[in-house]
Amino acid sequence: MNLFTIFGNPVAHSKSPRMYNACFKKYHLNNYCYTRTLLENGEDIIKVFKKLKIKGASVTVPHKEWAYKLADEVRGIAKEIKAVNCLVLEDDKIVGYNTDAPGFVESIKEFNYKSVLIIGAGGTAKALSLMFKNADILNRSENRLKDFKNHKTYTWDNFEIKKYDLIINTTSAGLSDDNLPAPREILEILFKKAKYAADVIYHTTPFQKLAKEYNLIVKDGSDMLVYQGVLQFEKFVDFKIDRDEIAKIMKSVL
Ligand code: NDP
Repeated sequence: MNLFTIFGNPVAHSKSPRMYNACFKKYHLNNYCYTRTLLENGEDIIKVFKKLKIKGASVTVPHKEWAYKLADEVRGIAKEIKAVNCLVLEDDKIVGYNTDAPGFVESIKEFNYKSVLIIGAGGTAKALSLMFKNADILNRSENRLKDFKNHKTYTWDNFEIKKYDLIINTTSAGLSDDNLPAPREILEILFKKAKYAADVIYHTTPFQKLAKEYNLIVKDGSDMLVYQGVLQFEKFVDFKIDRDEIAKIMKSVL
């Protein structure tokens, strides 16, 4: 059996098993199975990977930084962002990758924007900041902002509000609660001036609802989820895939 999983906490909401299992089925990979693993302590990620004899894993909030630290080798853009969302067993080595950022950019390819504000400063924000070199960053607290040396960074307290075309929520606010990613007063001013809002969370959040009230074009994270999944699927199997076909299958089960 070739076992794959998603590591996260919480992880019960994850639609990844449906997405990957549908693709395994399409390719008649009958001995491939993708499941969910609730991991409380990120430090255990490699220990659990080995114990369960996993071939490949997706890594989600809040474990991407542990996956980066503990993988045997890290390749590609993950080295720069210091966060890993995909672990693959390759020749007895557990190799870490990051497919989030390319997936996100693909998902908003029809948007026409110049200025960007990224809300949040975790692993996903770091990945996206490499794709949006001129974006400003707004985070709830100071600590993680030190990772964004090439960007203008703000906390809620010192934020100088200006016009941005595109506002991106990369925080986990709204994932399993009713929180907005920044104070409502700030978001309302931003939304009055913006054209687009994009969220990395793939269900409707208070952030998306508020943006719609201001008539913005709003995108949830489901397309990002699909495309980063296509890139992971490519690493999980050892043959050439048709990316568009995989994206279609993944979308059909979301
Ligand atoms: P991290 O744990 O690395 O970072 C979390 C960030 O969210 C921090 O900036 C944190 O701020 C902020 N935050 C958490 N709670 C709140 C809150 N109540 N209000 C304001 N800010 C808050 O998370 P990741 O970057 O790994 O993931 C973030 C989100 O992205 C998750 O919801 C995850 O599900 C989603 N995601 C979606 C993907 C997709 O394919 N659609 C792919 C990857 C991730 P602070 O520094 O102050 O703690």
